[in-house]
Amino acid sequence: MGMGANIVLGAIADDFTGATDLANNLVRGGMRCLQVIGVPQQEVDLTDIDAVVVALKSRSCPVDEAVADSLAALEWLRQQGARQLFFKYCSTFDSTDQGNIGPVADSLLEALAAHQTVMVPAFPINGRTVYQGHLFVGDRLLNDSGMQHHPLNPMQDADLVRVLSRQTPHPVGLANRAVLAKGAEATRAHLTMLADQGVRHVICDSLDEQDLEILAEATVAMPLVTGGSGLGQALPAQYRAQGWLDTISEPGRLSPASGGALVLSGSCSRATLAQVADFLAKHPDGGFALDPLTLSEGDKQWEQALAFALERLSSNAPVLIYASADPEKVKTAQAELGVERAGHLVEEALSQLAVTLVNEGVGRLLVAGGETSGAVVSALGITTLRIGEQIDPGVPWTQTSMVGREAPLSLALKSGNFGGIDFFTRAFEVLV
Ligand code: ADP
Repeated sequence: MGMGANIVLGAIADDFTGATDLANNLVRGGMRCLQVIGVPQQEVDLTDIDAVVVALKSRSCPVDEAVADSLAALEWLRQQGARQLFFKYCSTFDSTDQGNIGPVADSLLEALAAHQTVMVPAFPINGRTVYQGHLFVGDRLLNDSGMQHHPLNPMQDADLVRVLSRQTPHPVGLANRAVLAKGAEATRAHLTMLADQGVRHVICDSLDEQDLEILAEATVAMPLVTGGSGLGQALPAQYRAQGWLDTISEPGRLSPASGGALVLSGSCSRATLAQVADFLAKHPDGGFALDPLTLSEGDKQWEQALAFALERLSSNAPVLIYASADPEKVKTAQAELGVERAGHLVEEALSQLAVTLVNEGVGRLLVAGGETSGAVVSALGITTLRIGEQIDPGVPWTQTSMVGREAPLSLALKSGNFGGIDFFTRAFEVLV
């Protein structure tokens, strides 16, 4: 049992950045939120926390593993007293005919002895909508959105009733826009009617925030809901209406930030490359480039990067260490070293810089890159993140307490294409 547990929502997210995305929306909806990385092995302090999101890596792993990890997370969240459970997956319904969305949802329902759940992947402000059970990305059907070429889970069918039917032995139903238009009560009646017919999974249309609000109202009493982070933003208002949640002023309030500011970037996504260029234009002497080919030759470049960062930090100057490079440079390094080794060299170098520099007094750390963030967080031994205000959509500041540090460490973890062009400078301006 966690200390002071009074948890309203317990969420299980199938990847790390998806977990942060949901947590960010829960804060925006008015909940104080903690993200935990993996199922906690030790007691977690849940004082003044309303929602916990457990970040798993269950999106593309073997089905058995995804089910086992999700059930372990469920068990832990129930021990913390969570009133409603939320299974979070990607708003593009990332999965294959083998799973993992269907099998995980089935096993969670079974463990909860529940008969039905809803599937609400839509995230309208990000252009993900569902109509007549068909998922759109912007104005394209899912299977024509680029997602049909995804390396791990190519999405070749936009009809989610059909997609999910291949992942579960149970009947899949639909709550379409015409039903939602009649309001929450009619939607609830429709779900009950489907439940009476044995329909376990209901794909739900949603075109806008209002549809999500109706769905949140219709499903607030369900033991388990599933979907993307859009639904997450609509639920807190319903918890308040139920009297489960107080009105909380500044749910994203963190302790004052302190310590040196550092940006580490291992992302080569287009948005990140522009952010690196923007930072270097503002601080021409503020950046140090790492190159996997040089890193592979020994410690020299790493030591130079460390010396560079220490020098800049001692004069309170902004500092960026980056391996981010244009596609051609990345390809050259990958051809020479192999994709995996090139990535590993960069992740290892940035992780060890993070560990050393946090020891040396860095207290505000921004990391760019999903995989890179995972590597840094794991090297720092971080297991919980308190979610603060968002810097840009989907990317909040977070805080974690660390052994050996009196004040908490402030951390912003930005995956690939998130964030405006001035993200590397503005992030620190909005942090107080
Ligand atoms: P994103 O969120 O943009 O996809 P990730 O951190 O998830 O970023 O992935 C980027 C990957 O590319 C990481 O494994 C990183 O180590 C690797 N990488 C970074 N810079 C280079 C480079 N210059 N050459 C080769 N690989 C690189």
